[in-house]
Amino acid sequence: MNASTATQSIPTVKLLIDGKFVESTTTQWRDVVNPATQEVLARVPFATPAEIDAAVASGKEAFKTWKKTPIGTRARIFLKLQQLIRENMGELAALLTAEQGKTLPDAEGDVFRGLEVVEHAASIGNLQLGELANNVANGVDTYTILQPLGVCAGITPFNFPAMIPLWMFPMAIATGNTFVLKPSEQDPMVTMRLCELAMEAGIPAGVLNVIHGGEDAVNAICDHKDIKAVSFVGSTKVGTHVYNRATLAGKRAQCMMGAKNHAIVMPDANKEQTLNAIAGAAFGAAGQRCMALPVVVLVGETQQWIPELIAKAQTLKINAGTEKGTDVGPVISCAALARVEGLIERGIADGAKLELDGRKPNVPGFEKGNFVGPTIFSGVKPGMAVYDQEIFGPVLALVAADDIDQAIEFINDNPNGNGTAIFTQSGAAARKFQEEIDVGQIGINVPIPVPVPLFSFTGSRASKLGDLGPYGKQVVMFYTQTKTVTARWFDDSTTSHGVNTTISLK
Ligand code: NAD
Repeated sequence: MNASTATQSIPTVKLLIDGKFVESTTTQWRDVVNPATQEVLARVPFATPAEIDAAVASGKEAFKTWKKTPIGTRARIFLKLQQLIRENMGELAALLTAEQGKTLPDAEGDVFRGLEVVEHAASIGNLQLGELANNVANGVDTYTILQPLGVCAGITPFNFPAMIPLWMFPMAIATGNTFVLKPSEQDPMVTMRLCELAMEAGIPAGVLNVIHGGEDAVNAICDHKDIKAVSFVGSTKVGTHVYNRATLAGKRAQCMMGAKNHAIVMPDANKEQTLNAIAGAAFGAAGQRCMALPVVVLVGETQQWIPELIAKAQTLKINAGTEKGTDVGPVISCAALARVEGLIERGIADGAKLELDGRKPNVPGFEKGNFVGPTIFSGVKPGMAVYDQEIFGPVLALVAADDIDQAIEFINDNPNGNGTAIFTQSGAAARKFQEEIDVGQIGINVPIPVPVPLFSFTGSRASKLGDLGPYGKQVVMFYTQTKTVTARWFDDSTTSHGVNTTISLK
């Protein structure tokens, strides 16, 4: 951590506690750095234990009234928030690009995919419905009530600083909970701007709180006795820790974690469409998407397509995300760049064939940026670091398979289960793939199949812990507690059958 002392000249990121954006009293700060220029944009505080407690206490107090606030009143706030996000889309995208590095059109996409969840939160009344069975016994009805849990918390990663916070707090709050958000300390500014808009939309004081920090703040959330549920998105290592620690403390937890997504290319696939899709998904956002495609399994004769894939990758423009026509922006930090370059070095040492080397690209005007261009290895095998690790950079590993069975087995042997795709014109091959693959999100000729909020994000094996996903129908179950009521109302003419000493409803 590049901790430093807050100075006057550089803006500080505020905490949001009890409806007020406040300066932290901490002595521990970290720079928020533009990855294309190394300009320090702001300083983010690591909240003190007292500030974290104050945020949770505010959420606990606000819950007393928020849980009783009518569904329509809660939902209307998100109708307003979606409008404010649309009106401020340009500003939000610019802020996101400055601190995260992705291109401006992709930053708009980041905001837009979150906006879709806000729209869904605005119709929460349709989702938070209980069930009723009439006459389950004589004069007896049974029904369920989905009630909010209390103070819930969210911990988010750096790669989608708009979309992922919006996966969390709108659904938690719309269902009647209060929330404490802990954004990524690497790029918290656009998240804070979204929280300002949320407050402007009418979220009452204490219903949404934001604290900043790293490991200590996350551990405090996991341990806090007044937090009922934790939603985490980030790496497998940290997510597994959060899941274990939070559930041990009696909380509900959902952790969406790391990935190593594979695509299968079948010989009958449409070549041009497939190569475009692979290049976009492998190298877009500089490979820093949990749903990126860093591994492609070339089946049979598609192994001949490698030169054309290289040619396609070479057409991509590497530049700052602010520059028009940029395809590949910088990676998030100098440390991330050093890690990606180190892994490319290891790929060579491990014996993979470096087909395209994207290291040290020339980016005039942005010489200090964390740039690495599209990089392609062929002949990659399990056991090589470029295969075994999530690189989170624009590095594509090509592997070969004889047929679809071998390709499916190969993917199922990888520990991760976040996303996958098949490129084929065969319905039978696609159906076999969807039936046999052990991965959460499946694309059929769709390279990045992130579900829209009518459905929930999911994942299997090392990519997800917890049964219920963020957003969609499942998240309503995550953020609510089911009560089941069995009720009998006697009318005056009911005759008593005496004492019932059995379990039966008579
Ligand atoms: P990360 O795990 O380093 O950080 C995520 C959060 O955990 C941050 O808020 C950070 O402050 C906190 N954190 C970091 N180290 C910690 C520690 N030692 N103890 C406790 N908390 C800690 O992840 P990242 O680098 O910000 O994001 C990239 C990762 O997120 C990738 O692995 C990517 O695949 C994953 N991701 C997954 C999904 C998904 O839906 N499955 C979506 C986006 C990103």
